[in-house]
Amino acid sequence: MKNNENLFNQRHSLAHIMVQAIQRLIDPGLELGVGPAIENGFYHDFLWSKQADQELIKTEESIVKTTFKEMQRIVKENQNFLYIELPGKETKELLKMLGQPYTLELCDDLIKEGETKLGIYINTINGQAAEKLLAHTKPDYFKKYQEATNRLTKHTDLEGKFVTFVNMCKGPHVESSKEIPVDAFVLDKFAGAYWKWDSNNIMMTRIYGVSFETKEELKNYQLMMEEAKKRDHRVLGKKLSLFSFSENVGLGLPLWLPKWAGLFRTIEDFWNEAHRKNWYEFVRTPHIGNKKLWEISGHWGFYSESMYPPMEAGQTLEDQKAGKKVNEADSEQYLLKPMNCPFHVEIYKAEPKSYRDFPLRRCETGTVYRFEKKGQLGGLTRVRGFTQDDAHIMCRKDQVEDELQRVVKFILYIYESFGFKKEDVKVYLSLRDPKNTKKYAGNDEGWELTQNVLKKVADDMKLDYTTEEGEAAFYGPKLDFKVKDCLGREWQCSTLQFDFNLPERFDMTYINNKWEEERPYMLHRALFGSFERFIGVLIEHYAGAFPFWLAPEQIRIVPVADKFVDYADNVYNKLKDKWIRVIVDDSADSFSKKIRNAELMKVPYIVIVGEKEESDSTVSVRVYKTKEQLTMKVDEFVNEKVRENEERSL
Ligand SMILES: [Zn+2]
Ligand SMILES: [Zn+2]
Repeated sequence: MKNNENLFNQRHSLAHIMVQAIQRLIDPGLELGVGPAIENGFYHDFLWSKQADQELIKTEESIVKTTFKEMQRIVKENQNFLYIELPGKETKELLKMLGQPYTLELCDDLIKEGETKLGIYINTINGQAAEKLLAHTKPDYFKKYQEATNRLTKHTDLEGKFVTFVNMCKGPHVESSKEIPVDAFVLDKFAGAYWKWDSNNIMMTRIYGVSFETKEELKNYQLMMEEAKKRDHRVLGKKLSLFSFSENVGLGLPLWLPKWAGLFRTIEDFWNEAHRKNWYEFVRTPHIGNKKLWEISGHWGFYSESMYPPMEAGQTLEDQKAGKKVNEADSEQYLLKPMNCPFHVEIYKAEPKSYRDFPLRRCETGTVYRFEKKGQLGGLTRVRGFTQDDAHIMCRKDQVEDELQRVVKFILYIYESFGFKKEDVKVYLSLRDPKNTKKYAGNDEGWELTQNVLKKVADDMKLDYTTEEGEAAFYGPKLDFKVKDCLGREWQCSTLQFDFNLPERFDMTYINNKWEEERPYMLHRALFGSFERFIGVLIEHYAGAFPFWLAPEQIRIVPVADKFVDYADNVYNKLKDKWIRVIVDDSADSFSKKIRNAELMKVPYIVIVGEKEESDSTVSVRVYKTKEQLTMKVDEFVNEKVRENEERSL
């Protein structure tokens, strides 16, 4: 297997080869932008010139077809990648000769920055192959590179070889194109890209390619991309009518359609039950908080880039419209909450605490609002308002380890309940930078203790974790949990994080067993991260085919003809009575269309009722997962589904 560096060189070299291929057969005057290696492949930016073959550049398809075939040919030509360095003046002359105004601009930039020697990559082939080239490529291409060959011979020994491509570039590249597997790359897609990433500049054409070490890896990647597209929760969410966005309501503020709200409620019910069993207490807090609160907590200062500006609550809208000013004494500034923590701290402070009150575990599914730029909003994973499954644990020093262990067990239990195994969980332990301990809140004792305990618990529980020194927030060390979905993509969900900052800022205390005041240890934790995000992950993980207990629509009843709608309603009532999410399809569609629709929606059970079912008090059931078909008594079916719901089987 090649190492990463080789793969990088291969991808970068393919970028050069791609534009060489275009110059050879489509546009000898092609003007080049940048062309780096990227994750999974490469791209190159360019502009078509007047010399471009108008017939060939009519469609993306013909560009790709011609270019790709020529790239394969170039790879097989065993072209050398030769590196030389030239002084600024010679480089500029060379680029002018090659007709590359944009590379020339980059060259000037580099010279301005103080570079005296510029790196040039030259592709060459031997004389025999060059003769074939004359017959095969555009005449202008051949002429240009004959001139380049003559010119470059003055600067370096080309050993009689012919130059097929030149670009100013620092590399690195492969030594010869024969190192590149000819069947493990493809051209992927087109895009537009501004020169130098600046929207005031000209828009160039960009072609992306993907490239791997083997044909199999390329195949796997393509399959994964196809699968990911099908699973994209934005596509699936629409198809399954789970959520919607309305311009009138506002960007990044999802609306919960009944099915989605049902799924949310199901998950929340499970969450509530799990928290009761783990001896958490429930608290509730408002959506807005006085500016004072955020000043004390510090968010006003260090979190302002994620918060919305305050609103004035010391007057009515009517007063404000009339242009009335609020006098200072009456002014009240409120902020939408970006976090629940300061509220939970105020709840802590609402009553005096003693060492016997601990541990306190307080949870809330709290909706928070964070600033996101218009252009960055996407589906359920990037929204402006979302609901965290939040909790804060306050405890004594001697309880820290036990509490942490409980939280980690809890997280793993939650993941398992949704079908993610422990092997699919990747953990990141973030510690403070030992060389720069001054920049952190809290004292050394607290940091030592919590960092050691986090490590110990991660070790004891045999978590697959990576330690990252210097990655801790200024207020405390943390463990982040990412789950891998069935496509191997990692999603950040749970975090648990110590906090030395808020207890100090809010002066949180308790009376210890010696009747002295002491600071409690405080831990933030979320299991899903947010409901929106977690549901998005679930949709993609299950590709919309949810296990029964999570399915937004659990059962669809399809009568074979209109006259059985009454019996269908009868079955519906029995299921509905047991809180099962069920609908009857009494639309005007044909029977076979109804069945197809239900299958498209991936409803776990389709119940079919007709004459025989009605007279026997039975239902015919089609199981989505196994494609089985079975007949059973209605009551038996209802009881079985109730049990399946309670067991939350996957
Ligand atoms: Zn290069
Ligand atoms: Zn918190």
